[in-house]
Amino acid sequence: MSKVLKDGTVLMFDDTTKSIRVLPKASVLIENGRITAISENPDFQIPENAEVLNVYGKIISPGFINTHIHTWQTVYRTIGPNVFLSQYFEWLGHMSGATAAFTPDDVYISSLAGYLEGLHGGVTSYVEHAHNNWKETVVEPGFDAAMDSGARVWWCYDVADRKGFAMKEQWEALGKLGGKVTEGSLVQMGLSVDGLSGLFGNDPGGHLGYVPDMIRKLNIQAITMHHLGGPWPARKTAPSDIDLSTFQTTNIPIIYSHAPFLTDSDQTALREKDHFVSITPESEFHFGHGQTTGHLITDQASLGLDTNWTFSGDMLSQTRLWLQNVRLTKSHRTLEAGRLPRTNPFPVEEAFLMATRQGGRALRRDDIGVIKVGAKADLVVFNGDSPNMLGWSDPIAAVVLHANPGDVEHVLVDGEFRKRNFKLVDRVIAWEKMRERFLEASRRIQKQIKEPPPMPERLWGVGEFGDVEMASTKCYGCGPRGTQ
Ligand SMILES: [Zn+2]
Ligand SMILES: [Zn+2]
Repeated sequence: MSKVLKDGTVLMFDDTTKSIRVLPKASVLIENGRITAISENPDFQIPENAEVLNVYGKIISPGFINTHIHTWQTVYRTIGPNVFLSQYFEWLGHMSGATAAFTPDDVYISSLAGYLEGLHGGVTSYVEHAHNNWKETVVEPGFDAAMDSGARVWWCYDVADRKGFAMKEQWEALGKLGGKVTEGSLVQMGLSVDGLSGLFGNDPGGHLGYVPDMIRKLNIQAITMHHLGGPWPARKTAPSDIDLSTFQTTNIPIIYSHAPFLTDSDQTALREKDHFVSITPESEFHFGHGQTTGHLITDQASLGLDTNWTFSGDMLSQTRLWLQNVRLTKSHRTLEAGRLPRTNPFPVEEAFLMATRQGGRALRRDDIGVIKVGAKADLVVFNGDSPNMLGWSDPIAAVVLHANPGDVEHVLVDGEFRKRNFKLVDRVIAWEKMRERFLEASRRIQKQIKEPPPMPERLWGVGEFGDVEMASTKCYGCGPRGTQ
């Protein structure tokens, strides 16, 4: 059935100026999952059978695109508020002992909860870095959660050589899932290549040889990987020295997650190949990945989230954090030169585009992350009447600087409601049931893995640790453990 969002303030994308054009009062017609008309004409002819939703005084935004997440970890919520990256790898990562605490059903419910958290806050598309690859039985539940979520997901499975679940078996497992994907599915197959990256430049077993074949067979729509660089142990994942041409991926989008230490040649390579980095601001601040170069690559960057179990799971927070970090970083440059900032270096609209259209560009999809005729009807309606939004006159500022997930009144993916009147729409599992199962899993798993293991001498036997100066309300110039 067609739908009309009537008389809202529409954040339309203008393909000519590559900017948002605000339509103060316009109607959006949705047919077969796409936007088929946007009209400011008050006498706009509404199709007879259309469902009409009056959104006068509300803001119609494109859905947000989160280009990096690991939803299977959602059950960890608050277990490691002060965790740092190397400790996370040892304690809670996909290679850690914590994975033994997960049943296949836990992976399903934890992943599903992660997607629902995003949908609730207006995230309509995800690039899932699915490293639930430690045994065969946990692969499919993660995928099924994506299918059942109602979100648009590029489900990028991380094929790796794991003990008891060898690479060949991993490809087979993935092949089975591929059969569930059809051309119109909201979930598309992708590939994460962290596991394979160990073989880049050194592949005596010839494992990479059959990757191009698998990419074709599985109809892979996106490739992603973590990339750190700088002082982090090298993994041959730098945009400048990676040679993915062996994968014959020229038309497949490639997304590097984090990339906090891009060299000049990395930046050039990203632009030349039209590859993207997914900056995950809160993650890079929280865990200490660092983020020293993200502000230099805005044109080839989208925003992601990473680990919703240990900080905000909505893209509004990520957008705001990134906006202000870029402003701070760029203003510092002028201040450090002894001058006063003459302008504001990063307009809110640019930050908004990073969380919306740039995700679409990263995925080489010009029909998501934007509102225009022909685009997918992945839409968010902000109520705008809460104490924190009331009085808005600039709708982009209202969304980027003042909104939170509680302001999201409706969310549509592919023209269908996923959240309606502030409430998630129940799909495969009703929220109450879902909540019960999630709580049971979360409590059990957190109890089992509460204690972090001791840290190794070096990260992966290589990375050297250094002391970190503490910040404290109780002492001045504290040592690494908060002692004077
Ligand atoms: Zn990650
Ligand atoms: Zn990470």
